[in-house]
Amino acid sequence: MRVCRHCGSRAGEVRVGYARMWLCRDCFTRFFERKVRRTLEKYRMLKGVSRLAVAVSGGKDSAALLAALARLELGIELAPIHLNLGIPGYSSECERKARELAEHLGLRLQVFKLEEEGFTVGMLGETRLRRRACAACSTVRRYWLNRLARELDAQAVATGHNLDDTVEVLFNAYFTGDLETIARLKPALPARGKLVARIKPLIALTEEEALEYAEILELPFTSVKCPLGKGSRSLRRKKLIETIAEEVPGYKHTFLSAHLRVFQPMAEEHAELGELGECRLCGEPSSQEVCGYCRVKSAVRAYLAS
Ligand SMILES: [Zn+2]
Ligand SMILES: [Zn+2]
Repeated sequence: MRVCRHCGSRAGEVRVGYARMWLCRDCFTRFFERKVRRTLEKYRMLKGVSRLAVAVSGGKDSAALLAALARLELGIELAPIHLNLGIPGYSSECERKARELAEHLGLRLQVFKLEEEGFTVGMLGETRLRRRACAACSTVRRYWLNRLARELDAQAVATGHNLDDTVEVLFNAYFTGDLETIARLKPALPARGKLVARIKPLIALTEEEALEYAEILELPFTSVKCPLGKGSRSLRRKKLIETIAEEVPGYKHTFLSAHLRVFQPMAEEHAELGELGECRLCGEPSSQEVCGYCRVKSAVRAYLAS
């Protein structure tokens, strides 16, 4: 029988691949939560935070995030937010799981339906934005998360981005020389004007670890994938990164730490980050006259009117 590396008594049931170790379920749960706590402390993510908005998508990562934050008893108020983006065959299932999760953890969930704005992300798939649907969708999500978090008087918003997500974005940014993304990708971004601080407490944990944690705690989450993201470049890149990591265990951790230690600070010094103003149409923060969200919204509306 394989024995748990930490307690040395129970059976090792969970494999932490990059560390070549097996842990029992209890020790794995503690290991995961300790890593979340360490990340929160290392990057001072909760400095000045008494109410933390938490983005809950209905998937495993944000389920693991919200549960870990709740179980760590951090002495702050957690305000989970769910955005229903109106994607057919997907969004209603996500909302159902997000509601179940909040109930399971005894937290009050705030649900926002994009429909109320007169369009949905599902409609994006029918417009000329189809090929860029994922990018447009993330613009919509970032916009509403920030706006709702601010309206809830939260000092920061936490998202469930894990190590795999982060390495995928970095991989592409280095590959294409996207200095702005390299400069901005940090575990914690401080507040700027009307932009609420953003934190990624799962940045040092892999997708596999988040899944294990969510499964061990039997958290409600959906495994349904977004139909608009199918075959996307981001998914193909993740597969490629997985292939590298199989040959070089620890590759993702090394990549992230080199980025944070060496390249990100250099990029931040050199990148020309636009001044932050306010959108002429909605008054939300934007580096351009009209914000990305208002541009997406008007493109979909123009399509619907034609
Ligand atoms: Zn153990
Ligand atoms: Zn706007």
